[in-house]
This record gives sequence, C-alpha cells and structure tokens, in this order.
Amino acid sequence: MNFEKEYRVRSDDKISLKSRDTKTKGPFDDKEDAQAATAENVRTIQDLQYRMFVEAKQSLLIVLQAPDAAGKDGLIRKVLGRMNPQGCRTHPFKVPSSEERAHDFLWRIHKCTPPQGKVSIFNRSHYEDVLVVRVENLVPKSVWRERYEMINAFEHSLVANGTRILKFYLHISPEEQLERFRKRLDNPAKHWKLNAGDYEARRQWGAYQQAYEDAFQKCSPKHAPWYIIPADHKWYRDAAVSSIVAETLKDMDPQFPPVDVDLDQIRKLYQQAKDQEQSDD
Ligand code: AMP
Ligand code: MG
Repeated sequence: MNFEKEYRVRSDDKISLKSRDTKTKGPFDDKEDAQAATAENVRTIQDLQYRMFVEAKQSLLIVLQAPDAAGKDGLIRKVLGRMNPQGCRTHPFKVPSSEERAHDFLWRIHKCTPPQGKVSIFNRSHYEDVLVVRVENLVPKSVWRERYEMINAFEHSLVANGTRILKFYLHISPEEQLERFRKRLDNPAKHWKLNAGDYEARRQWGAYQQAYEDAFQKCSPKHAPWYIIPADHKWYRDAAVSSIVAETLKDMDPQFPPVDVDLDQIRKLYQQAKDQEQSDD
C-alpha cells in the first residue's frame, strides 16, 4: 500500500475529518505484521538520515499535530526518535512565553527549523496559531485569518532553501481519546500526563476539527502537504508515518560526498602506522 498517496491532502481537496476512518488496519493482518513493517522502515530511515547528515545539503522538517492523547509522544519515542540524535532534534511548542508573545508568531518557530543535514521534529507547531488560538479566541479573527497565507509563504521559503516538509495529523476518534484518558487515570506512571485542559479541549471537539479541516485545506501545497493518519491503532499510526518518512528520504536521495582525500596517501599513512606499531611490540 502506498501510504504517501493514500493519506496526502491535495491542495484542492475538501476535507471532512468525520468521514475519514480512524481505525483501519490497511494492508496489515495484525499488529505484529504492522510492527515488522515499522521496524523495516525505521532501518531505512536510520540509513538515509545518516547519509543526509553526512551530505549536509538538504534538511527535513516533520510537523506533528493532533488532539490530546492521539500519540505524538509515542510516535516520537518509538519511531522518529530512533534517528541519530546528532542530526535530529525534537522541539515541543507549548503555550508561548511572554518573550515569545512579544514577537510575531513565527519567531519561535523559525529558530527551530532544521539546518542543512539535519532533521527537526515539531511536537505541535505554528499551526497552534490557527488552531487553539482560533478555537479559544486568543486573538481576533481578523488576525488569525491572515495567518494561513503567512504560513504558506514561510514554509515556501524553507522549501526554497532545501528543506523537505512533512506534516502529520494523527486522526483519532473521540471514543478512543476517552479510552486513553481512562488508561492514564488507571496507570500511576501516566498521572503526570493528566490535565484538566484536555477535557476542556475535548468539549470543543467539533470546533477543533473544523479548525483542522480549514488548516489542511488552506495549507497543503504540493511542496508541504498534510497527511491525515488513522491513529486509533498505535501500530497502524507508526507503520504509516514511518513508511511516509522512509519514502520521502528515499526520494531526497542523499549521497555521501565525493572523497576529497588522496586514498593512496592515506593507505601509505596507515601502512606506516601499522609498521610502527609492529616494531614497537
Ligand atoms: P502539551 O503539548 O500537551 O504538553 O500541551 C501544550 C499546550 O500548549 C497545548 O494545550 C497547546 O494547545 C498549547 N499551545 C501550543 N502552542 C500554542 C500557542 N501558539 N498559543 C496558545 N497555546 C498554545
Ligand atoms: Mg497534553
């Protein structure tokens, strides 16, 4: 199955999240089958990310957005966080600090975009500024309405500078979310995640879904598409996202740089060192 084609939002798509499946098993027989596919994708990602790091020409930005408990943290921990940490950083975006609020909304985001050779993973992103900000009326409509175009221009400038952008929405059902809230309550090791605000956001489910749909429709140019990933099954989410990241890295086709040392000279130096070591023994 081609996950990239299946879940990519096209710029002229009319999106209705409600009519999109959250629970599919896709091509997989069971959980183990999907986990094997994920493991294979992770190996591909590791290999190609290493090449990209050494090549130091292109970069990759992965944006994650989702309702609470949809699995952004799990996806990072189990799949995306398996990349070489020397070439990959995760950036969580929380409620803006007073310093951040004193700047334009892209200021704190721009500082975290990946330089050549590197990967940035955004756990939430500039899209919060047209999601929570819109639903909670944190700024007037006249302000957030303008932001879609600003986001498109911003992302375009990153792409023009050699950055690939993948944006994933983890699509869970409200029933599955409630089930995960229950599991958190039942598990003391997850109590640190409990948050009254999650229930507040849940009450606004419809308004959030509408804000998401608008963002997907307005901000899915070919060079920076959204992918809507069925996420009720964690193993499906991991397999689908890892497949899309792996395919993207294959398409980027990073190359080891040409050798710019004199190999014969290095071989001679090696031989001298080896001879020296033997005569020291
Ligand atoms: P979490 O990622 O669950 O730790 O929560 C981070 C919280 O920060 C979420 O409730 C987000 O909606 C909120 N947040 C992130 N970015 C913004 C923003 N630009 N404006 C207001 N709230 C934000
Ligand atoms: Mg949360």
